[in-house]
Amino acid sequence: MATHADIIWGDNGEPLSKEFGDVYFARDHGLAESRYVFIEHNNLAARFAALADYASFVIGETGFGTGLNFLATCELWQRTAPKNARLHFVSAEKYPLTHADLTRALTLWPELSELAAQLLKVYPPVFLADENRGNFRCSFSHNVSLTLIFADAKCAFSQFRPDHLHTNMMRVQHDVHMGGKTCFVDAWFLDGFAPSKNPAMWQKDLFVALANLSAPGTTLATFTVAAIVKQGLAAAGFYWQKQPGFGRKRAMLTATCLPFSRYFPMRRTQTSRWHLTNAARSNGRRVLIIGAGMAGAHCAFALAKRGFSVTLADEHTLASGGSGNAQGIVYATLSHTTGPFADFNLAAFLFACRYYQMHELFARAGAQSGLLDLIKDRDAFERISARFAGNSHLVKGMNPKQASAQAGVELTQHALFYPESGWLNPGFLCRLLTDDPNILVKEYQPIKYLSYEQQQWRSDLGLFDQVIIAAAQGSLEFSAAQSIKIKSIRGQVTTVKAIDALQSVICGDGYIAPGQNGIMSTGASFNPKSASLDILDEDRAENLANAALLSPAFANLHAMGDRAGVRCVTPDYLPVVGPLPQPDFLRQFKAYNTNRWAHIDIPASYFPQLYCVTGLGSRGLTYSPLAAEIIAALITGEPMPISLELWKFIHPARFWVRDLIRAVK
Ligand code: SAM
Repeated sequence: MATHADIIWGDNGEPLSKEFGDVYFARDHGLAESRYVFIEHNNLAARFAALADYASFVIGETGFGTGLNFLATCELWQRTAPKNARLHFVSAEKYPLTHADLTRALTLWPELSELAAQLLKVYPPVFLADENRGNFRCSFSHNVSLTLIFADAKCAFSQFRPDHLHTNMMRVQHDVHMGGKTCFVDAWFLDGFAPSKNPAMWQKDLFVALANLSAPGTTLATFTVAAIVKQGLAAAGFYWQKQPGFGRKRAMLTATCLPFSRYFPMRRTQTSRWHLTNAARSNGRRVLIIGAGMAGAHCAFALAKRGFSVTLADEHTLASGGSGNAQGIVYATLSHTTGPFADFNLAAFLFACRYYQMHELFARAGAQSGLLDLIKDRDAFERISARFAGNSHLVKGMNPKQASAQAGVELTQHALFYPESGWLNPGFLCRLLTDDPNILVKEYQPIKYLSYEQQQWRSDLGLFDQVIIAAAQGSLEFSAAQSIKIKSIRGQVTTVKAIDALQSVICGDGYIAPGQNGIMSTGASFNPKSASLDILDEDRAENLANAALLSPAFANLHAMGDRAGVRCVTPDYLPVVGPLPQPDFLRQFKAYNTNRWAHIDIPASYFPQLYCVTGLGSRGLTYSPLAAEIIAALITGEPMPISLELWKFIHPARFWVRDLIRAVK
C-alpha cells in the first residue's frame, strides 16, 4: 500500500527520508548528478534530437521522489526534441511526497522554477490506498505527459501492458506478431534509495517487470553497482556495464536490453485477463471516426496531434446530438473513498481540467470559472474535505459564507469548490478540436458498412487502418458493437437571463453556469423512461425549481428557451472505452459460467484495430479527453493513462464478462 513519504529536512533545507535514512538528492550537486547518471548515461540529448516528427519517447522511472529527474529531463526535452514529438515519463512512487513537501523540496532548484511550478499545478492528490488504481496521467505540457503511479515499482510496472504477453516468445518475434512497437519503454531511470537501505525494491520481480516492458536496445542507468542489481539485470536479459560514478563516487551502471531474450511470465495475481488482447495491430495512420460529438472530436484531436490522418464522419453535423447544448460543465463525482466509479471520475476530471486549460480551450470556448458542488450531507462533506486536505488547489471544502463569496450569489449550503473546473460551449469546443489540417470532417455522412479485409477496414468512405465508433446510441447499429449495453435518458436544458454577479458554476440537484452573452444554462432534467426530444413545460418547471434550490438568487429566473437531448448511459454509469470483443470471446471465457474466479490465461478475441467510445452520459466534457488518450495509447502503443485494473471497469467487454459470471449456477 502506498503511503506518504515521511520527510525530515536537513540543515541546508534538503529532504531526507525518515523511513530509509537516505537522501533524495545531494543539496549542492543533486541536479548535476541527476543529469550525469540518468540523462547522459541514457544518451538522451542525442536520442531526443534524432527523433522523427510525431515520434514518442518513453522513460520509465522507479522512485519519482521530488521529481528532480523528471524536471531535468523536461528541460532537456524542450531544448532538443522536435516540437511535435511526445515525451512520456512514467514514474512509480511508493511513498509519494505531499504537495506541501514537494513544494518545499523544489524551491531548492531555482533554475527549474518554471517547470517546478507546472509540476506543482498538476501533481495529483496523494491518498491512494489501492495499488491497482493509483495511476495518474498529468498533462504536463502539450508534448510531455507525466504518468505517476503511486504504487510499489514492481507492481506498477507489471500491470502496465495492454496486450497479452506471450511469455515463451522472444522479444523481436513478439513485436513482429503484434505488428508494431509494443514494448514501450525506451530508457529506464533506475532510482530508489540504495539497495542496502531499501532492499525490498531491488528484487528479481522488479527486473522482470522492467524487462517485460523493454525492447532490444532499451537502455537503463542507475547510480548503484550493488551485486543484487547486476545479477538481477543480467538474469532479466540486460547487458550491464560499469561506468565512472558522479563526483567522488567510484562507479555507476548502464545496461541495454538484449535482443532474443525471452519474456517472463507475468505475476499471477491478475487472475482474469479478459481485457488484454493479442489482436494484430497496424502502424497504419488512416483513421475513421464514426460520430462527431464530444467523444469523436476528442479522439480526432488526440490522434491528429500524433500525426494520424483522421476522417471524422457524422450522419448529422458536428456536435449535433448530446453535445449540442450552449453550456456544459466539467463535473465529476468525487468520493471520500476509493472505488472504480470514484477513481475514474477523479482521474478523468483532473485530466480534463488540465487539458482544457493547457490547450486554451477554457479560454476560447468557455471559462475556467471554478465549480461549487453543494453537498447536503454534512458527513459526506466533511469526509470528502478531509480526504482532499492538503490539496486545496484541487478541491476545497467551503462553508456557506465562503461558498457565497466565491459564487458571487448567496448560497446556504456547504460546498466543495473545484477551482480548476468550469464550463464550455460543447459545439464551439468540437469545432476548435477538429480545426486541424490532419482532420477531415464529413458531415451528413452516415457510415453503414464496415468490413475487415486484409488488415484494413473497408467502409462507405473507403479503406482505413483504424476505426473508432463514437456514435453514442448509434454505436449499437454496428454488429461489432454487440457486447456493449447502453440506454437513453432524456434531458432538457433551460436557458435563462443571466445574473451578472454569478462567478462560478453551481451544482446540486441540477446545475447553473455563469452567463455567456446575457444567458445562462440550467438543467438538466432526467427522464430515464423517455428518449423524446420534445420540449416539455414540466421539464422547464423542474429545471427552474432545481435552480431555485441552489440559491435564493435563482428564485425568479426568467426562462428564455429550452433544448432537449438524450444522454447515452451504461448500466453502471461508467463509459465504454476500448476494443470490441468478437463473438468468440463468449466461448473463450465460458468457464466463468461455472466459476467466476476461473483463471483463463489466453489472449481474448477482439476485432483488430477497431475501438469504441460511448456511454459518456452527461459527463462528455469530463470523460472524453481521458477516453481519447486511452484510445490513442491503444492504437500507438504509448503507455496507458490509467491502470489496467481500472480500465476493466470501462472496457467494452465488461458487460459480457458480467453476463457470464451472473449465469453462475
Ligand atoms: N528520482 C527522485 C527525484 O528525482 O527526486 C529521487 C528518488 S529518491 C532517491 C528514491 C525514491 O524511491 C523515493 O521517493 C522513495 O520513496 C522511492 N521508493 C522507495 N522504494 C520504492 C518502491 N518499492 N517502489 C517505488 N518507489 C520506491
